[in-house]
Amino acid sequence: MKRLTAVVTGASRGIGRAIALRLVDGGAKVAMLGRDRKTLPKGGFVCDVADADQLRETMAAIDERFGQVHILINNAAFGGPLHDLESTDDAEWDRYLATNITAPFRLCRHYLPLMKKQSFGRIVNISSVLGLVGAPQSAAYAATKHALIGLTRSLALEAAPFGVTVNAVCPGYIKTDMTRGKPAIPAGRFGTPEEVAEMTAMLCRRESGYINGAALTIDGALLAGVNQP
Ligand code: NDP
Repeated sequence: MKRLTAVVTGASRGIGRAIALRLVDGGAKVAMLGRDRKTLPKGGFVCDVADADQLRETMAAIDERFGQVHILINNAAFGGPLHDLESTDDAEWDRYLATNITAPFRLCRHYLPLMKKQSFGRIVNISSVLGLVGAPQSAAYAATKHALIGLTRSLALEAAPFGVTVNAVCPGYIKTDMTRGKPAIPAGRFGTPEEVAEMTAMLCRRESGYINGAALTIDGALLAGVNQP
């Protein structure tokens, strides 16, 4: 990843931070986005990705500082409280959409044409196992994570002729601030942000150009099947 430039949203904590550090480790220059100056490393970009104006200004500032962008990691998301759909008001629904699907759409709309022009690019959208299956009390979150996979697959078809890949990573239960409950995980443990970062970095390598439009699980076999009673 030497001489490549990356944009990582939600790079202040958890999985996004691990991805940003892993890309830096691989030799990339990384623009790290988060909402809080205090939790971002020096030189990070303070930006609420759900705010259209802030996002536009931040993308312009990144382009000015870095010139080209080769890698986009759409990681920031609203996890929200668990509750039934009838308790989900419009404001909460809108927050899910704005953060989890509209922001990745806007970032892809900005960077994909530039990647196509430079005949190289890697977009990784951090979805979830809840982008592939549902869960009770998570309808709004799961709806946005399913939508992110639809965006991924469709953009992969548009991007493939230009040397650009668009893939989704679908984590199961990963130990971060967002993780809740004590789920039955076949692996018998939570995953780590570093494990998700490793898979994401693999997708960003030049050698991974034939992996395109995939939704890859990293879940300790959570979705592999059902356990016998
Ligand atoms: P965390 O809650 O630990 O971190 C979320 C990150 O997103 C923070 O850096 C936060 O930054 C940022 N963020 C949230 N909202 C915004 C916003 N509006 N604008 C800018 N940044 C924002 O989450 P995880 O690391 O656990 O999750 C990362 C991704 O992985 C998400 O897409 C999540 O849906 C997905 N995922 C996580 C799983 C898990 O078990 N942890 C399982 C499946 C998927 P700050 O608050 O500093 O602004």
